[in-house]
Amino acid sequence: MKYYSTKDKSHQVSLRQAVLSGMPADNGLYMPEKLPQVPDKILKNCSQLTFPELAVGVARLLLDDDVPLKILTKIINEALNFDAPLIYLTEKIYTLELFHGPTLAFKDFGARFMSRLMAFFIKDSNRSLNILVATSGDTGSAVANGFYWISGINVIVLYPAGKISKIQEQQIATLGENITALEVQGTFDDCQRLVKQALTDKVIGQSLAVSSANSINIARLIPQIFYYFRAYSQIQNSSYMELVISVPSGNFGNLTAGLMAKRMGLPVDRFIAATNVNDVVPEYLRTRVFTPRASVPTISNAMDVGNPSNFARILDLYNYNYESIAKDLWGSGYTDEQTQQEIKRIFDQTGYVCDPHSAVGSLALNDYLKTFNPNATGIFLETAHPAKFKPIVEEVIATEIEVPERLARCLSLPKLSHPIANDFDQFKEFLLTERHFR
Ligand SMILES: *Cc1c(COP(=O)(O)O)cnc(C)c1O
Repeated sequence: MKYYSTKDKSHQVSLRQAVLSGMPADNGLYMPEKLPQVPDKILKNCSQLTFPELAVGVARLLLDDDVPLKILTKIINEALNFDAPLIYLTEKIYTLELFHGPTLAFKDFGARFMSRLMAFFIKDSNRSLNILVATSGDTGSAVANGFYWISGINVIVLYPAGKISKIQEQQIATLGENITALEVQGTFDDCQRLVKQALTDKVIGQSLAVSSANSINIARLIPQIFYYFRAYSQIQNSSYMELVISVPSGNFGNLTAGLMAKRMGLPVDRFIAATNVNDVVPEYLRTRVFTPRASVPTISNAMDVGNPSNFARILDLYNYNYESIAKDLWGSGYTDEQTQQEIKRIFDQTGYVCDPHSAVGSLALNDYLKTFNPNATGIFLETAHPAKFKPIVEEVIATEIEVPERLARCLSLPKLSHPIANDFDQFKEFLLTERHFR
C-alpha cells in the first residue's frame, strides 16, 4: 500500500519511507491510499477473538504488502500485551480504558507499535538509529517506554528542567539502557529547537543516523484503529440502538484513527470531538470556519493544542467536505470547572474515578445524548489513568486514589538524566562522543 501526502496526492511513498521519515517534505501528513473494508467474517465474530487476533485481522488489510504476516503478528503480540477493557458505567454509558500500558496513557499503543515497526524497517542497517524527541511531558514518556530495549534504536529525550511533572520525569529518566534522558536548562521550545537543529546539522548527519518520532507519524495512528474495533467487540452482543464514541482530543490523532476505523466498516453512528477550552475543532463544526489560535493551559493539559495537526488528515479523509464531516462528527468544549464537577459527578454516582481528559469525554458524550439522541448508547475513551493526575483528582473527589504498581515502582527508581545547558554545541558534543549512538 502506498502513502500519500495530504498536501499533494501525487507524492506517494512506501510505508517504510512514511514511517522512517515521519513527515513528507511538503509539510503535509501521510495517509494510506486506501482504507479497506474489514470483512464481515471478522466483524461478526470479533467478540470471539483476542485483542491481538482482532488487531492482526485489521492490520493485515493495511500492512499486508509491507510487512510479512508472521512479523506483523509478532509486532502486534509484543506491542499489544495489555488490553483495552470496556467498562459499563451507567445505563447506556461505557468507558474504554486505554491506560493499561506502561506509561498509563493511550499513547503507549502508538509508541509501542511504531518502535517495533521501525526496528523491522531498519533491521538490515549496520548503524544504530538515534531518535531525538523533545517533550513537554507525555509524548516523551510514551516514546521512551515504547522503544525501551528495542535493539538497534536509541532514544534521546530532551525535557525542560523543572517544567514537567515528577511522574513524567521519572517515567522518562529512570529507564537507562537504550534510553538517554537530557535535562535541559531551558523551556520546551528550547528543547524543540535543539532537536530541530541536530536533525539538520551536517556533521551530526555524517557520523550518526538521526531521526524523530513525532506524534504525526502514521505508525502511531494505525494501532489506534485497532482499539476501536476492540471496543466494538466487547459491546457487539449487548442490545443497543445506535452507537456513539466520544474522544477527548488535543492534536486529534486519536479521533482521526476512530474516523478511519469507521471508514473501514466499524459500526459506529457518530463520533464526538470532546475538547477543553482549546476548542478550535468544535468551533469549526459549529461555524464551518477553522481558526487556529494560541493554546490556553488547562487541567487536561495533554489536550492544550491550539492548532491540531491531525485536522489536516480529517479534512483529507472527507475530501474537504464540511457536510460529510459534520454528519459523522459533533463536538463541544468544556472549562476546567465543568471538568472538575464531572469527575465528582461520576465518582458520586458510580464510584468510578476518571482523569481530567476522560471527564471531558464524558461531558461531551452526556451533552450529545441528552440533546440529540437519547436512545443512543455511548462510549467515552479513557485516555489516561487518574493516578497520573493524582493531586487534581484527589482534591475533587476528596478520596485517595490508588497508584498502579508500575507507576509506583518507577517513582522510587533513581533518576539517570544528564543535565545540559540550553546550548547546541554542548548537545552536539554529547551526541558525537557517546559511542553507543554510532
Ligand atoms: C495525548 C493525549 C490526548 C489527546 O490525544 P490526541 O490524539 O492528541 O487528540 C488526550 N488525553 C491524554 C491523556 C493524552 O495523553
